[in-house]
Amino acid sequence: RRNLDKSRAHFQEAVKHMPLGVSSNFRYWGDDNTIFVKRGKGARLWDIDGNEYIDYRLGYGPAILGHCHDTVDAAAREAQPVGTVYALGTEKEVTVAKLIKEMMPAADLVRFSNSGTEAVMAALRLARGYTGKDNYVTFEGSYHGLFDATMWTADPDDMKDQSKDPRVITYGQGIPQLVRQLFWQVPYNDAQRLEDVLKKNHDTIAAVLIEPILGNCCGIPSKPEFIKAVRELCTKYNVLMIVDEVKTGFRVAKGGAQELYGIQADIFTVAKAMANGYPISAIGGREEIMRKYGKGVAHGGTYTAQAMSLAAAEATLTILKDTDALKNIAAYGQAMQDGMRKVLSKRGIPHSFTGHQSMSGLFFSAEAPTTYRNWKLSDYTFYDTMAGYLIDMGVMCEPDSREPWFISAGHDKACLDETLAKFEEAVDL
Ligand code: PMP
Repeated sequence: RRNLDKSRAHFQEAVKHMPLGVSSNFRYWGDDNTIFVKRGKGARLWDIDGNEYIDYRLGYGPAILGHCHDTVDAAAREAQPVGTVYALGTEKEVTVAKLIKEMMPAADLVRFSNSGTEAVMAALRLARGYTGKDNYVTFEGSYHGLFDATMWTADPDDMKDQSKDPRVITYGQGIPQLVRQLFWQVPYNDAQRLEDVLKKNHDTIAAVLIEPILGNCCGIPSKPEFIKAVRELCTKYNVLMIVDEVKTGFRVAKGGAQELYGIQADIFTVAKAMANGYPISAIGGREEIMRKYGKGVAHGGTYTAQAMSLAAAEATLTILKDTDALKNIAAYGQAMQDGMRKVLSKRGIPHSFTGHQSMSGLFFSAEAPTTYRNWKLSDYTFYDTMAGYLIDMGVMCEPDSREPWFISAGHDKACLDETLAKFEEAVDL
């Protein structure tokens, strides 16, 4: 239904100058379907052909208050005269660090960086520096960023035989096989398997790195008893717990997934929702660990704590802390799930939701997956087809049931009604 003439023409030009015509492989949706954004406002975005969409991707989460939020953007503009980078600190760093500490009790101290990848890299380095150990544990299905240490996954081709563990392979080429010697990867939501690894190998393991909700598997959540067990096992075996809240931080609760589950990390990372889309991330953690920065553990970065991003973070965090924005986002997510359930139940279509209301996945099976393995083995054909129709109708959801649907404070009643009406239509197509 949509006219994509301008996006298609632009793609032909873009691909002459950039691989796949984009700056992230995931933005390439095929030669005829790769679209380019003109602008956004609140929960909506417009492509260069003028097509309007209600956006449930939000850049994979950051635009928690909605695109181009007036207060956040004004704060960033006001910070422009501070300048950009000086290889020196500025005053606002402390203001934002205090806000993070107030919202996330596990943060005795805070360091800033620019992206999720950078923050997790720095957190793992810190854990190794503090413990004097090199190895680490990750969970199947996690995504922690682009660096070599975490670009590993259970081989989907190896999963059909459920009696043995799948091989662990790299996400694509260019990642040295040597890195494989440094980590264990265990199934998600399986505390026993984690304990087996820690019991035997804790002397060499610096940290367990966990995403409290698997953001790249449509939002598979930790079972509460699992993440609590991870906390207890880390303490028992003298291994640090790094909670990667790049996606969940300042989204699923003011204090992130740590508040939601009632746990505290030794080190955690936050990024996306922290500054409504401006590039900034942070590492927080226990004082004696964090003080290793400056006592042997290297950390830095030309662009860390850049003034405009800091100002955007201050504005965003202040709103999230002092208003009901996150409650309203969760209520919208719940209302959307309820509305979808009604449509699907009426037609006898089995379905389930994963994740948290603010970042939830939709499955066309009665039981939602609880591990990467059963997520990978589920059939997404119906979802993928329906998502294609929805996007064509102006509901910008994840096209391939990989990422959850993200909600922002900009999603209002009009968005909800329009989404549910279009959802009903797409289900019937
Ligand atoms: N950790 C998690 C949990 C993430 O969701 C992501 C991004 N999807 C990253 C790390 C990497 O963040 P970035 O893309 O900003 O490098």
